[in-house]
Amino acid sequence: MAHPQGSGDSYILFYIDMLPPLAQFDYEIPYENGSLTIYNREDQPATITPGDGTTFSIETEDPLWIKLRDEITINWTGFFDNYANDSKYAPMTAIYAREWVVMLTNLAYMYSTPEFKHIMYNYLEVMNNNPIWGNNKKNFTQEQYEELYDNLRKDRTFCLGLVANTANGYGGGQTLAVYHPCYYSHYYTMKNAAWETVSHEINHCVGYNHDSNLTQTSTTGNATFPGTLVPQLHNWLRKAERLPYMNPKVFDFENKAYSKHWIGSIIGLYEPLYNKSDFPPVETYFRNNPDWNQ
Ligand SMILES: [Zn+2]
Repeated sequence: MAHPQGSGDSYILFYIDMLPPLAQFDYEIPYENGSLTIYNREDQPATITPGDGTTFSIETEDPLWIKLRDEITINWTGFFDNYANDSKYAPMTAIYAREWVVMLTNLAYMYSTPEFKHIMYNYLEVMNNNPIWGNNKKNFTQEQYEELYDNLRKDRTFCLGLVANTANGYGGGQTLAVYHPCYYSHYYTMKNAAWETVSHEINHCVGYNHDSNLTQTSTTGNATFPGTLVPQLHNWLRKAERLPYMNPKVFDFENKAYSKHWIGSIIGLYEPLYNKSDFPPVETYFRNNPDWNQ
């Protein structure tokens, strides 16, 4: 749609029948002799010219597009980076880049949910009194939990990379890179899987080092932000079928047809995140408090 400056009305520029995933296309506005006549829904004409302040938007009834537009309240930008001069990284290829789009979108969705805000504002209660501590090893105050919520949701740009099995991941500044197993394990909820790594690295980008338990994963045995909160929030939203992307078959990373592009093998046997005796605090909390959002 085109919105000529000052008109307050929308004019149809063109229709798109289908947008394939991850496509990029350029459209040149077909000005003729320096202007273009366009029509609104009542067939009233307007004329636009290059640089006249007209803005453009897309209108759609596609439910996924509407979900992404209306429910994600975080503004993150991702670029793909080969980190070509650094042997700790492998070149970014299409199969990995596609899964990064899914991971970053799903994480932005998770951090946009009312559940996430509720957890951050009621952290000790939800997380069985396991506090967060910062780089100075001091337990957070209530104010710091609320500041962290804002900080995690700030506008950010990430240079997304693929780690060449030299580490699980690298994060800091704009660098955000994870190793091969993350790209297929992020659809599931498992110990030592993608969400622990991705949230550990993003917490480095936010400014926390290994002195803070914002980088501690499930290997410590304690309930932590990367090791517990993020994987369990993913699990909770996945079971409720609320995440934007849940079907691993959409990009089908594990399809053997792509195996020549894998930089590692696919390991099918993952340890489930929870034993029956090991009640996940996030899920338990929301089950026990059905009116949490009242
Ligand atoms: Zn680290």
